[in-house]
Parts: sequence; structure tokens; C-alpha cells
Amino acid sequence: MGSNPLRVVVIGAGIVGASTALWLLRDGHQVTLIDPADPGGEAMASYGNIGWLSDHSILPVSLPGLWKQAPKMLRDPLGPLAIRWGYLPALAPWLIRFLRAGRLAEVERIARALTPLLAAGYPDHVELAREAGVSYLIHRVGGMYVYRDRAAYERDSLVWRIRRDNGIRLLELDQDELRQREPDLNRDYSFAVYMDQGGHCSDPGGLAAAYVRAALASGAQLLPARARGFVWSGEDLTGIETDAGTVGCDRVVLAAGAHSKALARALGDAVPLDTERGYHWFYKDAEAGPRTPMIVTDAKCAITRMDWGLRIGGTVEFGGFAAPPNWERARLMQRHAQRIFPGLPREIDQSRVKLWMGFRPSMPDSMPVIGFSRRTRQAIHAYGHGHIGLAAGASTGRAVADLVAGRPTACDLSPFRAQRY
Ligand SMILES: Cc1cc2nc3c(=O)[nH]c(=O)nc-3n(C[C@H](O)[C@H](O)[C@H](O)COP(=O)(O)OP(=O)(O)OC[C@H]3O[C@@H](n4cnc5c(N)ncnc54)[C@H](O)[C@@H]3O)c2cc1C
Repeated sequence: MGSNPLRVVVIGAGIVGASTALWLLRDGHQVTLIDPADPGGEAMASYGNIGWLSDHSILPVSLPGLWKQAPKMLRDPLGPLAIRWGYLPALAPWLIRFLRAGRLAEVERIARALTPLLAAGYPDHVELAREAGVSYLIHRVGGMYVYRDRAAYERDSLVWRIRRDNGIRLLELDQDELRQREPDLNRDYSFAVYMDQGGHCSDPGGLAAAYVRAALASGAQLLPARARGFVWSGEDLTGIETDAGTVGCDRVVLAAGAHSKALARALGDAVPLDTERGYHWFYKDAEAGPRTPMIVTDAKCAITRMDWGLRIGGTVEFGGFAAPPNWERARLMQRHAQRIFPGLPREIDQSRVKLWMGFRPSMPDSMPVIGFSRRTRQAIHAYGHGHIGLAAGASTGRAVADLVAGRPTACDLSPFRAQRY
């Protein structure tokens, strides 16, 4: 137990907030989670992700040369990176920063910064899942990138060179080795890269819910309410205003995912947080699928087996929060799945299908925001994880608990500070 127990309020009980609560409880703090949504439920990004706990996801979304695809992004609403026309004016400043993050020197810097946070992600989840009694949700299976052929892989040589430079172990698989590992895979794919580190969570919503249950069992409170602002006494942060009244606090952790921007501003930090909308197609009791979680590079989607079926998703749609989902994007995943795994039926029984859309909390440089607020060291930011919030959720929570305790953090958090823009 830490020497100085504090009243800590965590705003948001997705995977980042729930993980943070567990680490804070270990230090003996009095923790209150505030979230209007059901723990692990469909409203949170932490429910519908693909479950990768990958230490190799160190590359930003923006890569050298991506800007050349911008016209296509605007033309094709079903493309892997799509922008809704109506949202373009609001997105423009974010987009300029996003494209700047794709310069080679920036990409190298971002990869170096994310490596330790993601390397700690898997072991930290193993520890928290054990504490929460759900170790069976975490699997050490590695991950695979599948290519049509070696030439296609070689066209991606930059990202693989950066992964290698940052200590990621890669195993190249030729056609025979790939066939043995993935017998259901379409034979059009003849090359893959396998990474044995990291793992997979077979029910991400279940994991977030289990962390919240474990936090409550250790004495945390859960207030089903929306945080609206902060209560100050001079420069002292004394509480959180919610739609269910005011909650007193000594410290606050802002972990409201994609919805953190307005509260961050109230803490003195104008962060360029936006959302990359993502979709998944889920198919219960699938007849075919991957043995290893895989990214199929030509389709730019991730496919994995979850506890009850197959989940395929990924891709990015810039469209803000208000626009209705474009379910055609999720249905496109079905067509990809049927092509990639020919053993899936041609006629899919739609009663076994579930479509989902969620809001990734996204910074232009694909790095999270973790660190003290500008206005006060009583408030800590913990959001903006984009595509890696599950993988880095547990290690982010540990870093936040270290900041609250005044301990040195295991990895350098300076690249993630809210004031970097
Ligand atoms: C299709 C898709 C696939 C993905 N695949 C992966 C993957 O394989 N691996 C990976 O690591 N990541 C993946 N991600 C990203 C990952 O899901 C997110 O980065 C992560 O879930 C973010 O977690 P979070 O806790 O920050 O946010 P969330 O899970 O969204 O939780 C934020 C919570 O804050 C609450 N909240 C919001 N506003 C307030 C308020 N004012 N007051 C109180 N509470 C509030 C919300 O209700 C919500 O419950 C994927 C995302 C998508 C969309």
C-alpha cells in the first residue's frame, strides 16, 4: 500500500480507465470510476476492437507517401482510409498534423516512443487479468501479417525495417509454412510475417468489464454518470461536476477515450483529439478462420477468432461523432472474410452476424496522451490511444499510478505529454 492514500476519480471506465483503477487500488487509493456506459458494453471502443495485444503496433497510421492517397480517400467511402466530405472542414487542422506525422523522421521517433509502452502492454494485462480472475481471456499467440507474395512484402520494407530496428522478432513464412499454420487461408496468399511476441484477447469487452468488477471488489465505487467539468478552489482541483452531482477528489484521471477533448480543455490543454471511426463484422461459430490473429495486408483488415466466433475489422473512417454509421463498410468486411477464408459459406446466415461501429480516440501522431495537465498536477491525462488502446491500456494505467504516486515511470512519457502540440 502507498504511504499517502488519496481520493482519485477516474473519468471513463473503458480499458484504459478500468486498468488505471486497478493499479491505483494496489497503491491503496480510494478510487471512484465515473462512466454513464455499461462496463465493457458496446458504447465503448474497448468493446468492439479486434483484441490484438501487439507489441509490434509501433508504427503511426500516417506513413511516408500517404498524402498521395488523399484524393482517393475522399472519393471512396468504402476505402480503408475514408473521409466523409461534410467532415473535411472540421478535420482539416487535424489532417495536416496527421500528414506531418508521416514524415520518415517522425515515424522513426514515434516508433521508438511507443516501443516500451507496448512491450509492457502484454505482461501488464497478464498481471491484471490474473488479478481479475480472467486469465483465460488472454492468449500468447503472436500475430501475423499476410501478403499475396514476397514482392508485396518487400514493398512494405520500410515498416518492417523499423520494427526490426526496435527489437521486434520477425519470422518470414513461405507458402508451405503458411499453409501448415493456416490451412483455411485462401491460397492466393503465399507469404507472411509471424511475430511470436504479444498476444490476443478473445473478449475485449469482457476483459474491461472484468477489470471494473475486480476494482469494485477491491473497494472502488462506480458512478453511472457523465462528467461535465471540474470544481476549483483557486488553483486547487477539489471535485468533478457530473450529471449526478459533484464528486470530491484529490486527483483526477481523464480516461474518457474519444470524448476527452472538452474536459482536457477545462484542464488547460487544447489537445487535437479526434476520432477514427472503426467497424467490425462478427460471425458466430464460424466454419473457417485463422489460427493466429492476422492482418491481411491487401484488404487492410484484421481477422481473429474471438470466444464465440470470427471478428474482422479495422480500417479508418474520418467522420466525427454525429454522422450515422455507414454499415456498408462493415458488410464489406463480410466479403473480405469470405474471400480470405473460402471455407466460410457463400450465403451467410445473418442471424449469426453482428455489425458494430466505434470511436477510436485518435491523435494525429497516433500516440496517446499520458501525463499531467497544464493547469494542475492533480489531473492526469490518459486517452488518445487510437489503434492501440487495448494493447497499451494496462501499461498506461500502470504509468498513471506511478505519476500519482510520484514514482519514476517504467517508460519515458515525455513524447506523450498533452502539451506537445
Ligand atoms: C474496429 C476497431 C479495432 C480495434 N482493434 C484494436 C486492437 O486489436 N488492439 C488494440 O490495442 N486496440 C484496438 N482498437 C483501439 C481500442 O479499441 C481503443 O484504443 C481503446 O478501446 C480505447 O480505450 P479507452 O478506454 O481510452 O476508450 P473507451 O473504451 O471508448 O472508453 C471510454 C469511456 O469513457 C466514457 N466517457 C466518455 N465521456 C465521458 C464523460 N464525460 N464522463 C464519464 N465517462 C465518459 C465512455 O462512456 C467510455 O465508456 C480498435 C478500435 C476499433 C474501433
